[in-house]
Amino acid sequence: MRSIQMVDLKSQYEAIKTEVDQAIQGVIDTTSFINGPKVKEFSDALASYTGAKYVVTCGNGTDALQIAMMGLGFQPGQEVIVPAFTYVATAEVIALLGLVPVFIDVIDSTFELDITQLESKITSKTAGIVPVHLYGQCSNMEAILAVAKKHNIKVIEDTAQAIGANYSFSDGTVKQAGTMGDVGTTSFFPSKNLGCYGDGGAMFTNDGKLAEKLRMIANHGQQKKYHHHIVGVNSRLDTLQAAILNVKLQHLDRYSASRNEVAARYDSAFTDHPHIRIPKRAVNSTHAFHQYTIQVEGVSRDELKSYLAEKGVPSMVYYPLPLHQQEAYLNLGYQKGDFPVAEALCEMVLSLPIHTEMKVEDQEYIIESINSFFK
Ligand SMILES: *Cc1c(COP(=O)(O)O)cnc(C)c1O
Repeated sequence: MRSIQMVDLKSQYEAIKTEVDQAIQGVIDTTSFINGPKVKEFSDALASYTGAKYVVTCGNGTDALQIAMMGLGFQPGQEVIVPAFTYVATAEVIALLGLVPVFIDVIDSTFELDITQLESKITSKTAGIVPVHLYGQCSNMEAILAVAKKHNIKVIEDTAQAIGANYSFSDGTVKQAGTMGDVGTTSFFPSKNLGCYGDGGAMFTNDGKLAEKLRMIANHGQQKKYHHHIVGVNSRLDTLQAAILNVKLQHLDRYSASRNEVAARYDSAFTDHPHIRIPKRAVNSTHAFHQYTIQVEGVSRDELKSYLAEKGVPSMVYYPLPLHQQEAYLNLGYQKGDFPVAEALCEMVLSLPIHTEMKVEDQEYIIESINSFFK
């Protein structure tokens, strides 16, 4: 029996087992579990990989978003614009900090926030915008940065799904996801493109002063031990996780290339399919393919999903409910119908297995299984 998974972390580990095991043993041998030298080594390596001037590591991608907002000085009552169609973390920290999430609809082809609606969401209380580089490709950063500059608001890029994606500006400059806004945030959750073996996260910035502040906030607001300048949090990347990430970062380009190969095979299988809309590539971004997400049209997405499950093919719905319809956010007063694209996507999207160790035969089986549903 085939065992197809959404993400095959076991096979990925087996292929780099010697390197990873040595890295883990190395940390245990030194017992410097907190803020050991591997943390700095990894931050430096990630800065040089992404081109960000500063990388500040922290406990997870949600903390990264929270610390970014604290570091940028967002004040309770201020508003932060965030897509209605994203993972909850993006909006959760806004609410936790006493800020007001202001949702914006997305574009159905590329899943990014709809830039044409952006200016209408800006008020005198707007502190920032959080574009989410959903599924692995960059939002329209050139347009977002221009609007942010015009209105003097901050941009935090949620890069949890898009590490390594490149964005091209019209003047020919190319920058990596997470390095274009005031702060970029990312997650090293195990299934993310650069995943560790537990929780982890990081922030990117090109502003040295801000980097210092972010580092301080992540460490109880202290610069010197037991001297607390501002209210902070405790959010650290474990040395063990940093050591694992150091190994995996060296494979990230190869991993992205395999994800793109899987995506290309799905593309060619479903390009002209009457019921399947393949994910459109944004013109200015490369795709890191954290997810390969199709839209199922004219038939029930959920029936296709159950049919595939019976055939041993997993698939996932990222995400089944837009943020404005989540119970925790109903108090914001949004109604069904407020974000029609986000609402429609929640009914239509289906993410197919994609990972770095996908076997061609397994992918052929997935494609055949999908095709057989429509026969
Ligand atoms: C995974 C993810 C996060 C949160 O990361 P954690 O490390 O799980 O806290 C935030 N935003 C997006 C878009 C994500 O996919």
